[in-house]
Amino acid sequence: MQRLKIDHLLKTYPNGVKALDNVSLQIGNGMFGLLGPNGAGKSSLMKILATLLQPDSGNVFFDETDIGTNPHFLRSRLGYLPQDFGVYPRISAAELLEHLAVLKGITNRADRKQQVAALLQQTNLYENRKQAVSTFSGGMRQRFGIAQALLGNPQLIIADEPTAGLDPLERNRFHDLLSEIGEQVVVLLSTHIVEDVHDLCPEMAVLIGGQLVLKGKPSALTEKL
Ligand code: ADP
Ligand code: ADP
Repeated sequence: MQRLKIDHLLKTYPNGVKALDNVSLQIGNGMFGLLGPNGAGKSSLMKILATLLQPDSGNVFFDETDIGTNPHFLRSRLGYLPQDFGVYPRISAAELLEHLAVLKGITNRADRKQQVAALLQQTNLYENRKQAVSTFSGGMRQRFGIAQALLGNPQLIIADEPTAGLDPLERNRFHDLLSEIGEQVVVLLSTHIVEDVHDLCPEMAVLIGGQLVLKGKPSALTEKL
């Protein structure tokens, strides 16, 4: 069943750069790879999906709801995993997750504690829960990023270049964790690394210069490129 429907998106920036040129895609549960070089338009598409940027025209539907007219429907079901979480405060991992859980509207204290503990376990950070996030290694920060993205049981997870800067071991752990999550929800993985898509995504599309030039299985990459 298709859950995310991207329909004829156009986006031109004020400087005249056409970032998205008639992009259409339909995506169901599981890991979907969006592959493209720097400047292809991946971040622009991710920002539109995250309702942080408005397209000039076109529509995005999630579970048949138009997010242009009803952005809250998607926001409440969205987990965003940025390239770099950005802020690594000196409070502990558990405390930070609890604060973020409040922002996500998980108001019941017992629910919140239970969810935070479960996510720390799932991302293999439970032992480090009392440690400040600012002291975490790159791989730990990435796993922490996944934990925060999973708060509130999102149905769509947007991961923007999430493996940038990870060593091979960290990257494997990260891959295993993402594949586990990817079964019941839509995970959209944006990357310029072909191996990320090969290793993780049963379905993918290639974006170049704002246009989707290929859609299908990763095996199509080795055939066509
Ligand atoms: P990617 O994520 O694949 O690197 P982006 O969506 O960031 O691609 O960028 C697509 C194109 O749009 C690039 O040429 C980029 O320089 C341009 N671009 C991105 N954001 C802006 C902006 N805010 N203003 C002007 N041009 C932008
Ligand atoms: P990403 O790495 O996610 O593609 P960048 O680091 O290139 O994004 O860009 C950071 C910010 O600058 C983004 O908000 C992007 O929209 C904006 N930006 C990117 N390219 C341009 C550009 N050519 N002109 C103006 N803003 C841009």
